[in-house]
Amino acid sequence: IGDSADFDEEVESICPFCGVGCQISLKVKDNKVKYVEGINGPANEGRLCVKGRFGFDYIHHDHRLTKPLIRREDAPAKGLNVDPANWQEFFREASWDEALDFAADGMKGRGTEVAGFGSAKCTNEEAYLFQKMIRQGFGHNNVDHCTRLCHASSVAALMENVGSGAVTATFNQIENADVAIAIGCNPIENHPVAATYFKQFTKRGGKLIVMDPRGQALKRFSSHMLQFRPGTDVSMLNAIMHVIVEEGLYDQQYIEAYTENWEAEKEHLKDFTPEAMARVCGIDAETLRDVARTFAGANAAMIFWGMGVSQHIHGTDNSRCLISLALMTGQVGRPGAGLHPLRGQNNVQGASDAGLIPMFLPDYQSVMNDGVRSAFTDVWQSDDFSSEKGLTVTEIMDAVHEGKIKSMYVLGENPAMSDPDVEHARDALARLDHLVVQDIFITETANYADVILPASAFAEKSGTVTNTNRQVQMGRPAVPPPGEAKEDWWIEVELAKRLGLGWDYASPADVFAEMKLNMRSLDNITWDRLETENAVTYPSLSPEDPGQAIVFADGFPRPDGRARFTPASIIAPDDVPDKDYPMILTTGRQLEHWHTGSMTRRATVLDGLEPEANCSLHPSTLRKLGVAPGEHVRLTTKRGSIEIMAREDRAVSPDMVFLPFAYVEAAANILTNPAVDPYGKIPEFKFSAVKVEAAGVS
Ligand code: SF4
Repeated sequence: IGDSADFDEEVESICPFCGVGCQISLKVKDNKVKYVEGINGPANEGRLCVKGRFGFDYIHHDHRLTKPLIRREDAPAKGLNVDPANWQEFFREASWDEALDFAADGMKGRGTEVAGFGSAKCTNEEAYLFQKMIRQGFGHNNVDHCTRLCHASSVAALMENVGSGAVTATFNQIENADVAIAIGCNPIENHPVAATYFKQFTKRGGKLIVMDPRGQALKRFSSHMLQFRPGTDVSMLNAIMHVIVEEGLYDQQYIEAYTENWEAEKEHLKDFTPEAMARVCGIDAETLRDVARTFAGANAAMIFWGMGVSQHIHGTDNSRCLISLALMTGQVGRPGAGLHPLRGQNNVQGASDAGLIPMFLPDYQSVMNDGVRSAFTDVWQSDDFSSEKGLTVTEIMDAVHEGKIKSMYVLGENPAMSDPDVEHARDALARLDHLVVQDIFITETANYADVILPASAFAEKSGTVTNTNRQVQMGRPAVPPPGEAKEDWWIEVELAKRLGLGWDYASPADVFAEMKLNMRSLDNITWDRLETENAVTYPSLSPEDPGQAIVFADGFPRPDGRARFTPASIIAPDDVPDKDYPMILTTGRQLEHWHTGSMTRRATVLDGLEPEANCSLHPSTLRKLGVAPGEHVRLTTKRGSIEIMAREDRAVSPDMVFLPFAYVEAAANILTNPAVDPYGKIPEFKFSAVKVEAAGVS
């Protein structure tokens, strides 16, 4: 933070936190980012939230990795916490040549024993190179990233029923809507700049229907607040659709022109009467009817959803319901109409588009399709690789326990904090023969590393990122990396050379040019255009077209151009409360912290605002426990136990505890359930049975 005139240089780039993708101007003095301002990007129009405005001094934190490190032969056991100020007990400094040789030697020739976790925090080019390295270098598809932990089930449902995994309309289209549903998301905390558009929409008369088991600040702006029982999304949404069918409120013309399987959906919905479903979801029948009439009566309506929808063993079914609701009312492909899963990390959309997924090559092209693989191996000038889907994030950890995977490359992810049942993941990391970690800090995952490669923060490198709106945007370097740290793409290229892959990229622009050869989504989007325009939305229909904010006006990328109704039935959560674990644990983010906290907890203002691990409980629950706000409680599930400061929060129902997941000292994922959705393979982070006690009581 500084005087507005007190800088040497201004560099335009993209906020590295959430998927909104706000454009920023970094004000640089003496090779330091002094402060940040919002600029006129398509997603933010100059606006920023507290993270985007005040969350950047982690870039210059003295914990930054500045040299490659190799684990000492006499180091204490893997997994012990490495003090960033005293890492010499665990690691020794190495030259880049030695560290890269060491990293490559532990992976070379090991085929399916190797797996890779790439990162949604890296650029599109870095994500593309990462998946290419695993596929070309080891001949298989065991490569994944944190999409598996956030919206994999949404993507599974969208691919199945709409034919595309991205949003059908930008969130800014809410300005053309008259009704919107926000379900399982908390935009004021998690997508704060998007939330400003939601608030404006309500101020000009738009009806906002908020659906969430937890109350939230957006409630103040809502026409309806449906605080339904956790895990009952399908019953509530099917009841709403039942009313639309029963009262003939659906759009017959649209259904006939653009969809398939309507009769099966209609038949399926017969049993989901609002009266019966009210007993399941806890929302009275008249409210369900009112919501159905309000949504179906809209001229233009949008549906937004977040991880409250996706992080369930029935996450794909939840999304199927939302897609069906939009299709039966014809609310896709027009201004102010559409489906929008709000993406979490800054580049989770782009990393997924770039093929950092075990079942898809770039642009969601199936690894099982021989023609698709050969199109890529032609460009890569390499041999064919496996046509089998690779292992997902949680399956990779299971495979380590089974002795099938022994060597892992982790770029910018932190599975020792982010995986469900995290002690299982930590145990897996400790069992590896060889772990390469590429990051900007010694993360909890780096505590298990054999070699650590010091990488670059976003403000130190070039590259494109893609936000929740399908907007491909240009990130630019403003300051040099500290010490000997390098840009991630450079590290990947050097590693690939040592794996014998013969890569010869001179810059991220070269990588982007290669990506375009097999990614039709990038047609008409060039590096030069992005340098000039900062952002282009895909699809872009011509070199002049800034891109299509709304897609699927004339049909869908599916057989016969038709979207599909896939009926969904009620499936109970996996780990339901009982007498030993009588309450419900749900996890999520707070406004000030982001993901595993490695960046925001090193940002002075953000950590100052939220310095201590905390959970939220209803006042009546605290009274029953005899715990005052600010005192500690013990949370115990079938996986483990943590002690944590309790906050009073009326937004949480009396049978529930909300637990943010950014705090290593009380890691939420010690408690979470690793059971996964069968389609998206996403864990059920949003629902575990939990016992809550006053700390000190046993
Ligand atoms: Fe950054 Fe998201 Fe905040 Fe925008 S809304 S400033 S992208 S964290």
